[in-house]
Amino acid sequence: MIRNVPFFNYPSVYSAYRQEFIAALDNVGTRGAFILQKDLVEFEQALASYTGAKYAIGVANATDALEMGFVAGGLQPGAEVIISSHTMMATASAVHVAGGVPVPVEVGSDRCIDLESIEAAITPRTRAICPTQLNGRTCDMDRLTKIAQAHHLDIYEDSAQALGSKFNGRSAGTFGKTGCLSFYPAKVLGCFGDGGAVLTNDDEIYRKILLLRDHGRNAEGEVEFWARNSRLDNLQAAFLNLQFKDYPKVVTRRRVIAALYQQRLGDCSRIQLPPHPDSNPKHFDIYQNYEIEADKRDELRVFLKEQGVGTLIQWGGRPVHQFSKLGFTQCLPKTDNFFKRCIMLPLNMSMTDDDLHYVCDRVLDFYRTR
Ligand SMILES: *Cc1c(COP(=O)(O)O)cnc(C)c1O
Repeated sequence: MIRNVPFFNYPSVYSAYRQEFIAALDNVGTRGAFILQKDLVEFEQALASYTGAKYAIGVANATDALEMGFVAGGLQPGAEVIISSHTMMATASAVHVAGGVPVPVEVGSDRCIDLESIEAAITPRTRAICPTQLNGRTCDMDRLTKIAQAHHLDIYEDSAQALGSKFNGRSAGTFGKTGCLSFYPAKVLGCFGDGGAVLTNDDEIYRKILLLRDHGRNAEGEVEFWARNSRLDNLQAAFLNLQFKDYPKVVTRRRVIAALYQQRLGDCSRIQLPPHPDSNPKHFDIYQNYEIEADKRDELRVFLKEQGVGTLIQWGGRPVHQFSKLGFTQCLPKTDNFFKRCIMLPLNMSMTDDDLHYVCDRVLDFYRTR
């Protein structure tokens, strides 16, 4: 019997909280509290306390959060910023729009930025490293910080996928000058459209971000510098507040699913799984995605689709450096090879254990005959 296991089930996210969402809409609407109101302040405080960041500032999306982070952190025109090529175009475009030059490097074995490749890419113009804490995993920030310090580089984190992810007990997004969070609907904590946040421990950067997101206006209404409008809607913050209360439970469930995948598929030599949730006590992964490497990837994908199982290849199958129209000239064979093999299996809150076993059975079926 074919079972339908979609990659992501947007309506189920809504139906899980339907009554509470309606109540929140009614509450916010009745108060007419739409822009920079108390639900946003509460959400920012909850984010700061959960991540241990000194400040969290709600903004329109994580791409803006990254870009405003670079601007507030003082990134100068022409400054090179090293990023992983295995990231969303947003990481690179934020560097570019902030005036910098994104320099993509190879992906490492844990899907995060390859630390050796960072050192090789450093030039006299390099000013920062912006690791992407990919798939809900924080990279080895001890080693990355050592590299940054040795070369006097700033760290900014693309932690859009990593709310609650930790390295050595410290949250993603809190290691460098700024971190970012995304509340795009497919993220582990998603809203009803676009939303994001900046994380920072720096008082001066915090103050700048508050102005950067609101036309450069300070509390007295004076415009201190050119800026934009990039606020997180108070209504979205109200929706996020009510989901955020269950966030630790959501993370726990995601880690259980990851452990089950490991148990069922760990012995299959034709695929490489992400690190097991308990494989290294330094890393606490939240499994935003379950990205594997697979032999005969494209055939596997078609087969799973026929069997009702939704999969996804991240970034439409193209790492940053392959967007040659943007002028990238880097040669990254490890990443090119990785992108012939990578595919993400379903990992979401609407899937049951039976769904998961069905997915694993089908993957194993596939490799029995191919
Ligand atoms: C989703 C995502 C972004 C962009 O987030 P938006 O809120 O959509 O702007 C940036 N980087 C990574 C790694 C992402 O996954």
